[in-house]
Amino acid sequence: MPIFEYRCEDCGKSFELMRSFKEADHTALCSFCKSDKTRRMLSRFFSHNQNPSSASSSNSCSGCMGGSCSTCRH
Ligand SMILES: [Zn+2]
Repeated sequence: MPIFEYRCEDCGKSFELMRSFKEADHTALCSFCKSDKTRRMLSRFFSHNQNPSSASSSNSCSGCMGGSCSTCRH
């Protein structure tokens, strides 16, 4: 089962949940404060598949949806 990463908008912490793809966009409760104001972040699975040399040629993060990218820090 894939691991998804979520970020809590209440306490700002990120946490990981193991769930099926079907459940990926369902609300995830924060494991720290139990808030349901959480957002799914791109999983590490995808960033590992990117070619680092081609990604560094352009300075933008193509996989980032803005605001919640921990790798390029928009
Ligand atoms: Zn929280």
